[in-house]
Amino acid sequence: MPDDERGANEAEADGSAGGALDVETAFALLADETRVAIVRELGAATASPETGIAHLGYADLQSRADIRDSGRFNYHLTKLRGNYVAKEPEGYRLRWPGMVLYRTLVAGRLTDDAAPSLGDVAVGTDCHRCGAPIEVSRYETLVRVRCGTCDANYTDIYLPSHGLIDRGRESLLSTIHRRSRSIMDSMTAGHCPWCARAVEPEVHDDEALPSRHDTRDLDAYAVYHCTECTGFQYAPIAQTLLYRPVTIAFFHERGRDLTAIPRWELDWAVTDRTTEILGRDPWRFAVRVPFEGSELVVELDERLDVVDSRVTASENRE
Ligand SMILES: [Zn+2]
Ligand SMILES: [Zn+2]
Repeated sequence: MPDDERGANEAEADGSAGGALDVETAFALLADETRVAIVRELGAATASPETGIAHLGYADLQSRADIRDSGRFNYHLTKLRGNYVAKEPEGYRLRWPGMVLYRTLVAGRLTDDAAPSLGDVAVGTDCHRCGAPIEVSRYETLVRVRCGTCDANYTDIYLPSHGLIDRGRESLLSTIHRRSRSIMDSMTAGHCPWCARAVEPEVHDDEALPSRHDTRDLDAYAVYHCTECTGFQYAPIAQTLLYRPVTIAFFHERGRDLTAIPRWELDWAVTDRTTEILGRDPWRFAVRVPFEGSELVVELDERLDVVDSRVTASENRE
């Protein structure tokens, strides 16, 4: 195997190594508990309160990983060097792929069957479709904010199980909101939040929504689909305005931080009640965003870019 030779002969190249490893080898390199223990200990040292990437000496790392057999420790450490671990004069450290792996282990991303169960938690807002309480629940490894009565589904996100442990109600709701917001913020800005590829919005008007767990009636909705990595989100057209400066400024000028408001509290954002279809070929929309006696009216084109906006009603400052 080229990798054996690499470990033995190219130690000095560790610090700048990378690139040549194929994905099968990258996965195969991890199929051993000793290697996972080494990555864990280097990661734990780096995650300690001291700032910066930790370097551990050979003996220190061996003792922290609790591997008595020196031959076995050396063999597996050598395997990890290059892609996951670098050897430098100060000691061994995680390389970036090793850091990603450690974060995955800590967040429980690969082992979420062990995630804590979540009793249904009412979010304090009533369903915009039927008026029953909206609740947080789990579906497989997804966290879902939905109406338990009519199945209108307002948020569906994957949360690492780590994010669910020891959370009070407010903290849990805030985590779900911020997490789903950052995903949609990235998607609507044209980047897949998982693999960083470019994503273009598409407007769909199929009768059934992409999720069969969502019974909302939407005349049209936005789809963000990363055809590289399976990344997928869809949203009412109006919801895309949650991530636009024009809407954030409209709320800010009235003393509210729009980015802090969970979407399920905003009727206009999670339904299409204030969205008007101005044209279908190409698509064009007008969305009314009401807030405390005034109304922001925004026009969107087929790429869901803002092409016009105005404030109407009592507080019109124009
Ligand atoms: Zn409902
Ligand atoms: Zn992607």
